[in-house]
Amino acid sequence: MDFQKILNDIYAATKDSSEKGTVATYIPELAKVSGDKLGMFLLDAEQNVYSVGDTSERFSIQSISKVIALAQAFDLVGNTLWKRVDVEPSGNPFNFLSLLEQENGIPRNPLINAGALVISDILISNLKDPKADFLSYVRGLADDPSIDYDEAVARSESETGFRNRATANLLKSFGNIENDVEEVLDFYFHQCSVAMSCEQLAKTFYVFCNRGKCTKQSEYLTLSQVKRINAIMLTCGFYDEAGEFAFEVGLPGKSGVGGGIIAVLPDHFSVAVWAPGLNEKGNSLLGMQMLEQFTTQTNLSIF
Ligand code: GLU
Repeated sequence: MDFQKILNDIYAATKDSSEKGTVATYIPELAKVSGDKLGMFLLDAEQNVYSVGDTSERFSIQSISKVIALAQAFDLVGNTLWKRVDVEPSGNPFNFLSLLEQENGIPRNPLINAGALVISDILISNLKDPKADFLSYVRGLADDPSIDYDEAVARSESETGFRNRATANLLKSFGNIENDVEEVLDFYFHQCSVAMSCEQLAKTFYVFCNRGKCTKQSEYLTLSQVKRINAIMLTCGFYDEAGEFAFEVGLPGKSGVGGGIIAVLPDHFSVAVWAPGLNEKGNSLLGMQMLEQFTTQTNLSIF
């Protein structure tokens, strides 16, 4: 299959779209990004690469980082993790609070904000130097020591993160946060601020396509852990649009409000797209369209 031609065709069909969605503004620093950026990067199981558009420019991965944090926490504490966070889709926006109260402080899943804050808390309790150790984990997965936090984005989110502060405090009131709330939030905002290009993202998520081994073939996760994380991505990776993403694209994946989406087909490829304009559910509008085109044209999806 000529992946490069398929990517080029999808890019050509997408780049002049009049409907591009809306760049996120609730984190002021993200509002500075041009809505015209567009890129798609594919890394296949044999590590051949295919690329079109803005694939080497870094952007804020935001909620995509939740999958990486989950992987590190799962590796550190194993199945005890699931006592503190559930694995059900929420059917609600990523920052929804009332469900948390109804369900006694156990977040629906690790990919909504409440769940990710619990994962941050677990990492803080289990890492010596949490921010440095998380960054090393990401760099190791990507085999790229240049990956870093974007301090301006982390600060910008901290200054405006009232809802995440409310969520963390609610979790604390239910006893589901062990550490200091501000320390958990600081870690979480940094984790979300990690900047990566489509190329770096596709390489980082190769581990979920390659049965738990990174591009250098070091083992990061067991097969069972990869199965579980891929299942969570499929059912919970797209806010309250996980059903739509499975329906249109048919791959486990995760989006972030920076406009990135990563998706994997186990044993076949990982693919990253970036288009900063979001749809009303908070997912990259053109990113979803490009991935739908890709799985439709190639007939490659988990279904
Ligand atoms: N840091 C963002 C927040 O907590 C992440 C949102 C996202 O990408 O879904 O609001």
